[in-house]
Amino acid sequence: MISIVIPFFNEEEGLLHTLATISDTLRSLARPWEIVAVNDGSTDKTLAILLEQQRLMPELLVVDLSRNFGKEAALTAGLAHASGDAIIPMDADLQDPPELIAPMISKWEEGYEVVLARRSDRSSDSVAKRLSARWFYQAINKMSEVNVPDNVGDFRLMDRLVVDTVMSLPESRRFMKGIFAWVGFKTTTLNYKRAERNSGSSKFNLWKLWNLAIEGITSLSITPLRIWSYLGFMVASVSFIYALYIVLRTLVYGIDVPGYASLITLFLFFSGLQLIGLGIMGEYLGRAYIESKRRPPYIVRKLYLPRLKGEYINHPRAFDAASS
Ligand code: UDP
Ligand code: MG
Repeated sequence: MISIVIPFFNEEEGLLHTLATISDTLRSLARPWEIVAVNDGSTDKTLAILLEQQRLMPELLVVDLSRNFGKEAALTAGLAHASGDAIIPMDADLQDPPELIAPMISKWEEGYEVVLARRSDRSSDSVAKRLSARWFYQAINKMSEVNVPDNVGDFRLMDRLVVDTVMSLPESRRFMKGIFAWVGFKTTTLNYKRAERNSGSSKFNLWKLWNLAIEGITSLSITPLRIWSYLGFMVASVSFIYALYIVLRTLVYGIDVPGYASLITLFLFFSGLQLIGLGIMGEYLGRAYIESKRRPPYIVRKLYLPRLKGEYINHPRAFDAASS
C-alpha cells in the first residue's frame, strides 16, 4: 500500500482540487493506497471539507490536531498514522507534482529505500527565497557531518523501514529534513520542476523561514558553539601581544594618557562579541531545556477513520500513537 501524507493549514481554497488530483493519480496506479490528511489547527473550513470528502473517499484518513503545531509536527503526526509500505509526504498546494509518484514507486521497486525529489527548477519561487535556500544548504552542510541534499524538500518516497526509524527517534523538536537525512538508507534522486502554488499564499514568511533555518542548523550541528572557543583564543592571543607592546612602550616613552576613542571602540566591540556568544549558547540551552520536558511534538484532538465507520478520541499521549 502507498500512503500519501499531507499537512493542511488553512487550505480550504485549493483542498478539493488537491485531493481530486492526487487521488486520480493514485487510482491509476492500480494498487492499494490511502491519504493521511493532517489538519494542523486550521481556522478556516479545512477540517469540514476534509470530513465531507471522507464520506466519498474511504481511503482518506483525517488526523485533527488540537492547535497549529507547525508543518514539521504536522508531518510527524501524519507519518505516525500512515500504514503504507511506502510513504510519500506532499504539500497541500500541488507544488509537489503527483506525476512523480509513479516514477518514485518504480525506483522503490528497484530496491531503493528513499527516493528524493529534487527541485531542479525553482523559477516559481522568489529570488530571495532561492538565494536564502542556497545559503542555508551551504551553511548546514559545512557545519554538520550529515549531508542535507540541497533543493530537496519533504516530498520524497520512504520505505516503511525508514518511516519506522524516523518515528522511533525520541526527540520532540523535529526538523524533518535533517532527521530524514540523518537516518540515511539507500537513496536515489529524481528531478522535477517546482510548480506554482495552486491557490492561496505561502504559509512561510521570511521570519518563519529564518527560524526554520536556525532550527535546522542547531538540530544538526554544534559548530556554532565551538566557534567561540577558537574566537576567544584568537582574541586573547592578539590582546596579549598588544598588551606587551603597550607595556614596553610605556616603559620607554612614559605614560600616554589619550586613548579614550580606541578604548571605547574595543570595549563596545568585545561586549558585542560576548553577547553574540551568549546568545548562541542560549539557543542551544533553550533547546535542551524544551527537549528535557519530553513533551510530544503534537496533540491529536481526534482521529477520523472512515473504514471503521466511527471515530474515537485519541488519548493525549499522541506521540505513542505511532505504535498503535
Ligand atoms: N503547513 C502546515 N502548518 C503550518 C504551515 C504550513 O501544515 O503551520 C502546510 C501547508 O498547509 C502546506 C505545507 O505545509 O501543505 C507547505 O506550506 P506552504 O506551501 O505554505 O510552504 P512553501 O511551499 O511556500 O514552502
Ligand atoms: Mg507551497
